[in-house]
Amino acid sequence: MTAADHLAWGVVRPTGAHASIAARLGDRVLPLRPPAEAGLLGHDLDLRHAIEEPTLNALIELGRPAWRALAERVRHLIDVGHPLMPLAFCEELLPVRIADYVDFYASLEHVENFGRLWRPGQPAVHENWRHMPVGYHGRASTVVVGGTPVRRPRGQVAPGELAATRALDLECEVGFVCGPSARGPVAVDDAERHIFGVVLVNDWSARDIQRFEYVPLGPFLGKSFATSMSAWITPLDALPRATPRAQDFAPAEYLRAREPWTLDVALEIEVGGEVLSRPRSSWLYWTPAQMLAHMTVNGATLTAGDLFASGTVSGSEPGTEGSLGEIGRGERWLADGEEVVLRGRCGDVELGEVRGQVLTAAP
Ligand code: CA
Repeated sequence: MTAADHLAWGVVRPTGAHASIAARLGDRVLPLRPPAEAGLLGHDLDLRHAIEEPTLNALIELGRPAWRALAERVRHLIDVGHPLMPLAFCEELLPVRIADYVDFYASLEHVENFGRLWRPGQPAVHENWRHMPVGYHGRASTVVVGGTPVRRPRGQVAPGELAATRALDLECEVGFVCGPSARGPVAVDDAERHIFGVVLVNDWSARDIQRFEYVPLGPFLGKSFATSMSAWITPLDALPRATPRAQDFAPAEYLRAREPWTLDVALEIEVGGEVLSRPRSSWLYWTPAQMLAHMTVNGATLTAGDLFASGTVSGSEPGTEGSLGEIGRGERWLADGEEVVLRGRCGDVELGEVRGQVLTAAP
């Protein structure tokens, strides 16, 4: 098997045609509406209706047996020679209507790197951090599909000073698209049934705005102007599992999985055509299942199309940091016109890329 053999789900608008849910295989795409309308993807009415939707939410709501059945039918169609179209002939659209967006802070090395930069001489890791995956709610409506340019935001960069950020950063993260919907809590051992697939996320961050606003309630406008997510969602089913790193002590019962798993996504951060860093998601302290269990333990509803992201994936060595702030030790930030590309690969499965160019701030 090669990387090109793995299916991913997305939504495309082929040149001159309607938008459609689509399957991607390497650099080729199969928009699913035409074959579904021709009866080539089976006669299950729920599935037919889900394929007619402009996003993947209804398909996600149908659950894992339906995702697997559809993948099998798509594969069969391709095997019998159904034509695919080049990805280059399609516009990639945001594949899900993001219901809710949570961003975690699951990398111990990122917490330590940032603590040293922002709070030198103080403990980097707060007492709560090893007891729970710490996170915050982001802004679902400003999640954009990879390729969308991102305008430099304005905000209070210093007390009373409204200006365009002078410290625009990227954060390289792995994201998880959730569903079907469930009333919380979702048990840590049930997490795999409620994660549809995996994406790459760039959590754009304006560090000067963030630094002034984040005490005591956490990130807000320094993050909410844009979050980029890759256009193609790789089914969790398709990805090899890895063994999570050891935790410093056993967490609370609801965070203890019978068979702990994580993903080892080899990530790559490119800025202005130069690869600056290569972190790996298996270094994260908290696992995806622990994040999902924690996110819903209070009874919070999970909705098909929820997105949660891991938080910046960082290592401790030079060349493994997950943000430009860490790479440049607080001295280097994104310039107007600069393009950021994040790429990921999990085993032999390419997760694609998420791309974004910085636009000059609005006047
Ligand atoms: Ca983040």
